[in-house]
Amino acid sequence: MTLENQTCVVTGASRGIGRAIAEDLGAEGANVVVNYRSSEAEAHDVVDAIEDLGGSAVAIQADVSDMDAVREMRDRTERAFGGADVLVNNAGLTVDKKFEHMTREDWDTVMEVNLGGVFNCTNAFFDDIKAADHGRLINISSVVGQQGNYGQANYATTKSGLFGFTRTIALELASSGSTANCVAPGFVETDMLETVPERVKEKILRRIPLDRFATVEDVSGIVRFVASEESSYMTGQILAVNGGMEW
Ligand code: NAP
Repeated sequence: MTLENQTCVVTGASRGIGRAIAEDLGAEGANVVVNYRSSEAEAHDVVDAIEDLGGSAVAIQADVSDMDAVREMRDRTERAFGGADVLVNNAGLTVDKKFEHMTREDWDTVMEVNLGGVFNCTNAFFDDIKAADHGRLINISSVVGQQGNYGQANYATTKSGLFGFTRTIALELASSGSTANCVAPGFVETDMLETVPERVKEKILRRIPLDRFATVEDVSGIVRFVASEESSYMTGQILAVNGGMEW
């Protein structure tokens, strides 16, 4: 149990990578906030799964792009478990289109959640993370932020943006002993990857030396390490978890 009595907030934890992260942190003894936007039943399943492992968890609905909702989530977190020690900014979405067909609305929708949501949550939980003994900010980026990807100009921009954000926050947190890092997964088997056409997936697979897509556990295990005390001397880093893809 490496995270006993730590309060960990995982955004977008009702499905996919976020769910695996929430369950892994819960299994390490953390008190977990399972944030979701609309998948209420799934979020409660995640809470049940954590409680079955002997952990504590609460599901909190909040659209991360809505600052008032995020502030309310922070207050509810404190009431449930005390201030947050770990914030995992995982919630994200895609609106894929070739750039020539991409509208300003498609651009803004992705910015609002993937970067706006990161601003809102980091802003709301910043003082908690700074005050924590081993405060951790963990931002989930993507190999797409490193390489770019056809049809994802909006998404790739948000995921690259997290690099500059993380490195800057790492500097600003350093005097408190808390850290900020990015985990940049490759292509992971979740609902998000399901939206990619089969022929594109085959093309992507040919670029992955380990010759398979990532499982959610491939990513959650790295996040668990970054959340733990063992990673205390690592900050401002990008951890690529992508099966050996170059960037
Ligand atoms: P996913 O299966 O589509 O799940 C997305 C999660 O984010 C859901 O829990 C969803 O909640 C939540 N969410 C979306 N918009 C939200 C909002 N405005 N407020 C709060 N929660 C919101 O996605 P995933 O594949 O697990 O991806 C998770 C993260 O990993 C994302 O940041 C993604 O960019 C990144 N990533 C994914 C891959 C991949 O190949 N899958 C690769 C690299 C990085 P609801 O269910 O309630 O809508």
